[in-house]
Amino acid sequence: MDLEKIKKYLKEYSGPELKIMEVCGSHTGAIAKNGIPGLLSDRIRLISGPGCPVCVTPSSYIDRLIQLCLTPGTCVVTFGDLMRVPGSRMSLQQAAGMGGRVKMVYSPMDVFPLAGREPETCFVFAAVGFETTAPVYALMVREILEEGIGNIKLLTALRTMPGIIDRMCAAGADIQGFLAPGHVAVVTGSRAFEPLAAKYGLPFAVAGFTGPQILAALGGIVRTCEEARKGKAAGRVMNFYPSVVTREGNEEAQALVDRYFAVSDAVWRGMGNVTGSGRILREEYAGLDAGSADLTEDHKINAGCCCDRVLMGKMRPSECPLFQKVCTPLHPQGACMVSTEGSCYTYYSNHRE
Ligand code: SF4
Repeated sequence: MDLEKIKKYLKEYSGPELKIMEVCGSHTGAIAKNGIPGLLSDRIRLISGPGCPVCVTPSSYIDRLIQLCLTPGTCVVTFGDLMRVPGSRMSLQQAAGMGGRVKMVYSPMDVFPLAGREPETCFVFAAVGFETTAPVYALMVREILEEGIGNIKLLTALRTMPGIIDRMCAAGADIQGFLAPGHVAVVTGSRAFEPLAAKYGLPFAVAGFTGPQILAALGGIVRTCEEARKGKAAGRVMNFYPSVVTREGNEEAQALVDRYFAVSDAVWRGMGNVTGSGRILREEYAGLDAGSADLTEDHKINAGCCCDRVLMGKMRPSECPLFQKVCTPLHPQGACMVSTEGSCYTYYSNHRE
């Protein structure tokens, strides 16, 4: 179907209301920037899910980074968007203002020259991310081991998508289809979503990040839902990003991650412990870990913040009483307003509604 036909189809859809969740922070941003909601029938509602790695990182993780950066002889190395995420008492940025040692970088590999220049300092990399970034951390571990570098460690908060989607569906989420994350699927392959599609009888459409790619995937989901009403099975995975996503994914990257990281349970901010939804350094590499296994607590930082409900797709950011009033990107009250991939930030910055 060409783009104009897809647009017409999505705009004129008049069946039962469909709620479609995007579980990727980059999709959340792309949907807003491309004005996708305005191109859809009011019977199709898009909901943002837990796809921003920074947003789902529990407060205990930030607290541990703060503790580390304030420890003499230790420097925390991180991407910039983690700096303002609230911990239980303060953010990393505030800890840096109190004398904590924090370095912002653009690539995990930037830690190597830092460590080379200061052999007496222990550099702890804040390894946050989904399946997409895990291979880079695996390369980092390989380099540390091969070069015998003794002053770099990782504090990991690696999360995987299928586990959290399973948790939402098992809890009875009112969602009729998923826009599956394109970047994640490059690594995992579209087959990673097949068990979920079969288990819950829901369509998953792997999508790219341009407006037309997102519309094509949405068209596939809506059509599958319509066919399901006529008795056809809805539980299937469709790949609308075949230029980079295969069913098998990047098996070399998968093997690299498996070599250094084991599957683990993981705590998600506001959502608790989710079985098998994380990755942690294998026991034999535990010497490189800066305490990731102990980070099981997640304090509610701000009683009024509804990040937990936003991340689970139970509430739109604009329905949070603090949204745009006291909570803005300049004065974030919760993690979802900090990262450019956060739902609240995206809704605020792009007037998504
Ligand atoms: Fe939390 Fe702010 Fe989002 Fe409300 S608008 S859920 S306070 S981040």
